[in-house]
Amino acid sequence: MSIISNHLPTDELQALDAAHHLHPFSENEALGKKGARVITRAKGVYLTDSEGHEILDAMAGLWCVNIGYGREEMSQVAARQMLELPYYNTFFQTTHVPVIALAAKLAELAPGDLNHVFFAGSGSEANDTNLRMVRTYWAQKGQPEKSHVISRKNAYHGSSVGSGSLGGMTYMHEQGGMPIPGIHHIAQPDWWAEGGDQTPEDFGLACARELETKILELGADKVAAFIGEPVQGAGGVVVPPSTYWPEIQRICKKHDVLLIADEVICGFGRTGNMFGSQTFGISPDIMTIAKGLSSGYAPIGGSIVSDEVASVISACEFNHGYTYSGHPVCAAVALENLRIIEEENIIDHVRNVAAPALKAAFEALEEHPLVGTINMSGLMASIQLAPIKGSRAPFAGEQGAVGYICRENCFAQNLVMRHVGDRMIVSPPLVITPAEIEVLATRAKAALDATYAELQEKDMLKAAS
Ligand SMILES: *Cc1c(COP(=O)(O)O)cnc(C)c1O
Repeated sequence: MSIISNHLPTDELQALDAAHHLHPFSENEALGKKGARVITRAKGVYLTDSEGHEILDAMAGLWCVNIGYGREEMSQVAARQMLELPYYNTFFQTTHVPVIALAAKLAELAPGDLNHVFFAGSGSEANDTNLRMVRTYWAQKGQPEKSHVISRKNAYHGSSVGSGSLGGMTYMHEQGGMPIPGIHHIAQPDWWAEGGDQTPEDFGLACARELETKILELGADKVAAFIGEPVQGAGGVVVPPSTYWPEIQRICKKHDVLLIADEVICGFGRTGNMFGSQTFGISPDIMTIAKGLSSGYAPIGGSIVSDEVASVISACEFNHGYTYSGHPVCAAVALENLRIIEEENIIDHVRNVAAPALKAAFEALEEHPLVGTINMSGLMASIQLAPIKGSRAPFAGEQGAVGYICRENCFAQNLVMRHVGDRMIVSPPLVITPAEIEVLATRAKAALDATYAELQEKDMLKAAS
């Protein structure tokens, strides 16, 4: 049996990594010099690195390892399925048992008339599917010009050309010819950063109404869909004001614009319900799913679509699909993940135990001199760092410089907490216990203290003028 060896010294592994592995979203030359941290195994909410450090993973990998690491049932299901049927496609008038079972299960779990699933290998691929599907939907209905899609600035929908264009990350758009034509970005409902003198409620309405302004500017007969994450994840855990989603929903209905909820992070319990759409009262026509669908144990994503969208698309040959759409091993692993979530009442645990514990722990951190505010929905949360207590003014100097320092201090505390600009982000495994949340909060506090001291020393505790 060939195994990937763990026994090389860390510096040799790092040298090989630097020589041959190009990391995503990284400045590889600088990373190669520093040496990437080598993660060797994981269990529950803890990672172990090649130096034996036990690191609390408050990001659940990349927002995905919802059931925690090291669940044996998952590996057993994968092994069994590999022996039974490791691969077959569903392109040419064939299907297989895992994909049938998973599609039926997702139809049961998804709200309303979201009863049909188109599978992909990732969230990016699923959003590419959505882009082609909504355009095909309107073309089938005799409105091929109803093809524009509206999204938000600072949204994240993936990294392929289509999904990266749907996303609103300017630093991504600067590379590789994005966004592609026909995609528009309106304001994000980030009250802390952009709300000015408005109340959060007024600001939420104003952001939502930018959708109507954009629809009227383009012409409702030109707009196919609006896409949004119930809570923006990679954008910095932007929890929208309560007024935002109802108004978006109203505008989409009024102008006959399809609503795509990107549930890649929010789906499968993260916000305290099965889907973020349920937490925020959204009735989408299409949901994008990935990440928590398999808790990251196998790469799988998809689009759950309404009866109406499915019936229109099904009347034509939709010339789209991926070799790994509905991959049997990934589908079996996803099904096992959903079984664990349901049978172990993990969503009740989020709602009644873990989210309240995280909220209490973070509310205590809100006293810290470096903390501006806390944003939270279920088990996704952000700590906004701010130079002046009681003010929403950002730091002087480059945005994100302070966040980066704080992230390094988190690593030094054996805590994975990511930074988005000057916001610290957590999205821990949903199975995290109150005791583990206490460890998380203690390490976060130590990292904040170290960061505060470092900023004082470097004279960086200054607001932009
Ligand atoms: C991660 C993410 C994606 C992209 O998923 P990949 O599996 O990385 O392609 C899409 N949408 C949201 C909201 C995400 O967080």
